[in-house]
Amino acid sequence: MFDVAIIGAGLAGLACAQQLQQAGYRVVIVEKSRGVGGRVATRRLQDTCADHGVRYFEAQGKLLEPLVEVLVQRGILEAWTDNVYQLNSAQPEVTNESESSRMTRYVAPAGMTAVAKFLATGLEIWLNRRVEAMAPTAENTWHLTLNSPDETFKELTASSVVIAIPAPQALMLLEPLSETIPPIFLDSLRSVEFAPCLTVMAGYKNEQLSLPSWKACSLSHNSDLAWIGLDSSKRPNSKAPIFVLHSTAEFANSYLDSEDLKLVGQQLLSIAAELLLPGLDSPDWFQVHRWRYAFPSVSLTQDYLYSAIPLPLICCGDWCGGNLLESAINSGISAAVAINRQLQQKTLPGEGFLNIL
Ligand SMILES: Cc1cc2nc3c(=O)[nH]c(=O)nc-3n(C[C@H](O)[C@H](O)[C@H](O)COP(=O)(O)OP(=O)(O)OC[C@H]3O[C@@H](n4cnc5c(N)ncnc54)[C@H](O)[C@@H]3O)c2cc1C
Repeated sequence: MFDVAIIGAGLAGLACAQQLQQAGYRVVIVEKSRGVGGRVATRRLQDTCADHGVRYFEAQGKLLEPLVEVLVQRGILEAWTDNVYQLNSAQPEVTNESESSRMTRYVAPAGMTAVAKFLATGLEIWLNRRVEAMAPTAENTWHLTLNSPDETFKELTASSVVIAIPAPQALMLLEPLSETIPPIFLDSLRSVEFAPCLTVMAGYKNEQLSLPSWKACSLSHNSDLAWIGLDSSKRPNSKAPIFVLHSTAEFANSYLDSEDLKLVGQQLLSIAAELLLPGLDSPDWFQVHRWRYAFPSVSLTQDYLYSAIPLPLICCGDWCGGNLLESAINSGISAAVAINRQLQQKTLPGEGFLNIL
């Protein structure tokens, strides 16, 4: 029996777990994927890797600034670029980012999941297990049913539950409990909206392309392609160019359930070749990843959702108080404070989860 079961090992879940575990609670995270990080995601490819989720960290805000500093000291993050070039309708070619928007972007040469792995240090995490159902028991505990690849760890009980996943997925878990959970809680979850994104990872032979002067470029006028980065420039030992492309939400909405994602990926590559760099449409290889819940488009203003009925329950994530990494971490930490208030009121680490570092 655990004090707190956390669903989801993204940055919100990891931040929450660190806070509570350091305070002395018995905490477990259940994660459906094979690794931690959620949308802080890195795909292993032959002898290298590519970041198909979060592109970079910006050392901005009261949580990210000190976190980035420590991760740089630890050799996990490195400065990548301070200039995300722009392509807009007014200019035929890419232009520098405006002076006022410039700032250093930090990346992990080992892949962005290195950040999540670091934040997962010392935590009990059950990977490869999707929470399929949850229900209150007569003993006043939560009972979680897990979809497990083997006969082990198929269920667990906990005094409280933190759901640190996108709101629409949280809603799927909680709708069956609509008789017991206050309607306002579920209505708040229903009000959150997410936009999708399709990302393409494409690798080239060295002789195929002459590399651009930019490492990252944002497109503001194209309704299909939103962003492109030279991902291999994040890794000092990379042998050949790899680009990562992000579609717009509009494009992803049209093709999200397409049976032939390769065809859709090829479309994005052709646009990139036409607008930015000839040859991008003929990669040596490419893969496409579908993010059904990529970015919150309608978020909540509060840092988390809480209900004591029927038992302590919190939902948190980037969709609480913002829509990016900073709000995910802040929401996870705030959720820990709320759970602590409801349970035993132990002493939580004062300076956020930086205390693990
Ligand atoms: C393509 C892309 C690029 C991005 N670029 C940036 C960027 O440059 N800068 C920035 O600040 N933000 C960026 N973001 C947004 C950022 O990734 C998110 O804001 C942040 O990672 C969200 O963290 P989270 O913990 O709230 O959720 P998630 O990272 O989504 O974590 C949720 C976790 O829960 C797991 N899960 C879901 N359902 C279950 C279940 N039933 N049982 C068990 N586990 C479950 C999932 O597998 C996942 O690991 C980007 C996102 C995408 C998709």
